[in-house]
Formats: sequence, C-alpha cells, structure tokens
Amino acid sequence: VNSQETLQLLRQQLPEITADLEQLVNAESPSMEKTLLAKCADVLDEIGTRVLGKSAQRFENDGWQHLLWQFGKPDVLLIGHYDTVWPANKIDSWPFHIDGDRATGPGVFDMKSGVVESIYAMAAGGVLNNIAILVTADEEIGSITSREVIESTAKQSKAALVLENSHHGAIKIGRKGVSFYEFEIEGKAAHAGLEPENGANTLVELAHRVLHAKSLENLDLGTTVNPTVAHVGTTVNVIPAHAELSVDVRAESKEEQKRVHDALLGEPTRVEGTSFKLTAGGMNRAPLETSASKELFAIAEKVAPQVGIHDLKGVTVGGGSDGNFTAAIGISTLDGLGAVGDGAHAEGEWASISAIAERGALVRGIVDHVLASGVS
Ligand SMILES: [Zn+2]
Repeated sequence: VNSQETLQLLRQQLPEITADLEQLVNAESPSMEKTLLAKCADVLDEIGTRVLGKSAQRFENDGWQHLLWQFGKPDVLLIGHYDTVWPANKIDSWPFHIDGDRATGPGVFDMKSGVVESIYAMAAGGVLNNIAILVTADEEIGSITSREVIESTAKQSKAALVLENSHHGAIKIGRKGVSFYEFEIEGKAAHAGLEPENGANTLVELAHRVLHAKSLENLDLGTTVNPTVAHVGTTVNVIPAHAELSVDVRAESKEEQKRVHDALLGEPTRVEGTSFKLTAGGMNRAPLETSASKELFAIAEKVAPQVGIHDLKGVTVGGGSDGNFTAAIGISTLDGLGAVGDGAHAEGEWASISAIAERGALVRGIVDHVLASGVS
C-alpha cells in the first residue's frame, strides 16, 4: 500500500473516523476520575477492536488503565493518551460539534483525534505486524502509573511516534524537560507583637526561596524556572509556622535540568529555626533532545509531499509528553504527529477533520519506512 492509497482510504473513512472521535469525546476522561476513565477505556477498546480486529491488552496500575494493541514485536510504537485536562460534565456546556472542517469539544485537539488517527492509520496499512499502539490514562498528570509500560514497550522498539497534537501543523522534534516541585517549609508560630523572637517565620524563608528559584533561570539556554503556587500564613499577628511552595522548571538539556534541580534542593535555609523539604515531584520528564528525532524527521520530510503535506516544519516546544520518556531511554522519537488545529488545554480547542487523513497517511508512511529499512 503506498502513501497516496492510504490517504485516499483514510479520506473515504472520515465519516466513520469523525463518528468515533465524537464517541470518544463524549466519554469524558479527566485524569483523576478513575470511574470515568474506565468508561472511556471501554469506548476506546470497542473502537480499537472494531478497527484493528482485536481488543487491547490492559495494564492497570492503581486504578488507571492503559491500553496496548500489540502486533508481533513492536518495532514501531505509537503512543497516545485518552485522559484530558477537562473536568467532568464539561461537555454539557461545550458539546462535541463540527463546524465545516473543524471538530471541537473537550480533548479533541489534545489528543483524542490523534488517538483515533493512530488506530485508523495502522488499520489502513493492510497486514498489522511489528507495530504497537499504546494509549495511556494519566499523561496529563505526569504519567506516573503508565511510565513503566511506556518504557518497557519502547525498549523493544526502533522508533516511537507520539500522536500528540502538532504545533500549527509543525511536528515536534524537541521538547523541554519538565520538573515539578512541591516544597514544605516548617517554622515556629509566635505572637508577632509579644514575642516574635520566639517564632521562625516561614513566609520570610519562602520569599528567599522564591527569589532564589527565579534567579536560577537561564533564558539564553531555554531554561525557565517559575514559582507557581504558595500557601502561607494564618492571620496578621501570628508568625507563620508553615508554608508550601510549588515550582515549575523547564529545560532543553539534561545538564540544565540537573543544575536547577541540585540548586533548588541544595539551597540552605536562611531564616533560623526553619527547615524545608521536598514533599512531591522532582525531575519528571527528561528533555526530548533534537538528536533523538533527527532521523525520523528526515523520514517524515520524505513522506510528507506524497500525502499532500508541503513544507513540513519541525519545532521545539516547552511542554513535555511521553515522547520525553522514550527519547530519554535512547529510542528514536518523533512527536506532534496528531491533530492539526489549536487550543490545547484551552476552551474551544479544535482539530481539522481533513488533516486527520493526511496526518494518518504521514504516520503510516513513516511506520512503513521504519519497518522496511530501520530508522537511519
Ligand atoms: Zn496531550
């Protein structure tokens, strides 16, 4: 099957693809709602079973269910996620609908259209062999429970293709590494008027840490450090005994990610009598460095004109994905092969319907190329 035939077939199937996308969007799937996630997993499994010819293997971890369709040794692994950032009942005020070529609804762009695209694109290639499709349930909250199955499947693969949304049509050839931190600072309460000397002021300590964290930023190297949440204090005349601080860090290289990590954790307390500790988080996703995507992107550039995509671009973006995990363990990785549209995590997110066929044919072409001749 050549790429043009795949494209034609996918174009013919667009009504079914769109109907399945609608079903998948209507099965709302907030990352933290396990009951809803399980229902969405069933809907997804039904679509996959119908289109791919077999049901998914399920990997359940702490209530999150990750679905894997595997056909022989997974030389190529397609990765997606079915959880979304939207709360339950969002579709009451923002139902799935179609306006011309645009489909919209919670999770359409990030990334339910990419999930449907991957399933139809693989089925469009004839015999299914040496391919796996993994669709996880917790990507939007850091992939804590899916990381193991992502990495263990990817380790058997030559290439990982991530069906996250594109960036205005551009493929994601690099992603920053992501670290999240939640710190707690303990001090000592005291009356601010009568005996402030007996207190240890966690708000002052927190202020030091906020400014120290910000000072670690290096925009020239693409490193951003942002204190994002602080909770401290009880009332105006009490020295605050407890504080909490969250920090978001993004870096283009492992070295930068590690530098900031070490500095945040190594910074001594400045206010006597206070202590601080990391309560959650750390370095979550390592950077997807462009060296990991170079060869696959070259393949994509060759396939793109055959499926009507001209002037295919590659970009590096700040947000992480599961592609960061596969790149970090040395697997060639290309990301952003899903929806063309806009508005990830924003009300009104939308995806082009016709682009699902083009991108699906592109993914199929990349897969066939890798299966025939490896990655380089
Ligand atoms: Zn996503």
